[in-house]
Amino acid sequence: MLSYQQARELVIARVQSISATPAAESVPLSQSLGRVLAGEIRSDRDYPPFDRSVRDGYAVRSADTYPGAHLKCIGELKAGDAPSVSVAPGTCVQIMTGAAMPDGADAVIMIEHTAREGDDVKLDRSLTAGQHVVRKGSEQSSGKTILQTGTRIGFTEIAAAAQVGAAYPSVFRKPRVAILTTGDEIVDFAATPGPFQIRNSNSASIAAQTSLLGAEPVLLGNAKDTSQDLRDKISAGLEHDALIISGGVSMGKYDLVEPVFRELGAEIIFDAVAIRPGKPVVFAICKGKPFGTQGKPVFGLPGNPVSTMVTFDLFVRPALEIVSGAEPSALPFFEAILSSPLSEKPGLTHFLPAELAWPDGAPRVSPIPWQGSGDVVAMTRANCLLVVPPDRESIEAGERVQVLPRGLF
Ligand code: AMP
Ligand code: MG
Repeated sequence: MLSYQQARELVIARVQSISATPAAESVPLSQSLGRVLAGEIRSDRDYPPFDRSVRDGYAVRSADTYPGAHLKCIGELKAGDAPSVSVAPGTCVQIMTGAAMPDGADAVIMIEHTAREGDDVKLDRSLTAGQHVVRKGSEQSSGKTILQTGTRIGFTEIAAAAQVGAAYPSVFRKPRVAILTTGDEIVDFAATPGPFQIRNSNSASIAAQTSLLGAEPVLLGNAKDTSQDLRDKISAGLEHDALIISGGVSMGKYDLVEPVFRELGAEIIFDAVAIRPGKPVVFAICKGKPFGTQGKPVFGLPGNPVSTMVTFDLFVRPALEIVSGAEPSALPFFEAILSSPLSEKPGLTHFLPAELAWPDGAPRVSPIPWQGSGDVVAMTRANCLLVVPPDRESIEAGERVQVLPRGLF
């Protein structure tokens, strides 16, 4: 059986091989959060656009400075002022953070390091040339690329784009991701369930995970556990850029998703991964009539809600990143010290809901008691997944383990 790393590599390689560059559109910068840049953004001018003081103090000639030196203050510059004064030997200009440096001056002494009486300024130290000054163009020179195509826009990228006046960045069209749940027992979460019915939480969580990736969820509702209903709804789902199905991928008599994939001519890339939760996870490529020649990624995720969300983050996420025009992101592992011993079935990588805390400054992690992959409420108490490798039957308290932050994750 594939390890989760092998399965991720297969997803990434296969989705890359079928994905064309998405179409581009321009959006207002204020609406670009989470979108993926379809073109690079360049600096429209040197930045900073002038030699800029980064302290409140006095603009001086560094050659004039020594402990006990006296300089004559000949003017004042605040941010936004044109620096019309010029600093001659023996003089200085009071300057504020963000103001342009006057001619003649090459350093700024902080106000805290001076004493002033009238226009006399006494210094308590010497300065080197360039101290507390950021030179024109030292952060970015005009015309230089500041954000590459394929970059996901976060608030920092919004600041950088705003700085260079990119008010309508070109971004890739959002992929439309069809979401289908399955199960005769499943009812809409707004409905009142019968005694043996289950509310549809997967449809809501898959849509939320899809939206967080900047893709557009298209809800197809729930299919009955019949070949006919699955065939119809899966075929409808394949009109979109990708299809995610939950449930119906285990070994039960009514787990019909994989047989229907095969009937529809899908190429099954894998149908099991050595993980818990989430072992019976299916990844397939559907291509040919009527699904297009390129091929579309299709996932059959196990129906237990925690399995659904963990397998989404491990396998669907990189696929949707690629379909969005971005690079697939690596899993953000970090290390923590295990607080209490644990033992899990070997041969599988376990992703256990766990709590990470820093009680004494060091990261410590403890598993959260849970009833297994249906226990989504236990998962809400977790802030990370503790990763138990397949070759470890037990791990002692005090050992270092890997964790993944919950919800990327
Ligand atoms: P399955 O993978 O279809 O065998 O389902 C496994 C378990 O997950 C069953 O207990 C289902 O009732 C539950 N389940 C399946 N689909 C959903 C869903 N959409 N929302 C909430 N629970 C589900
Ligand atoms: Mg089912």
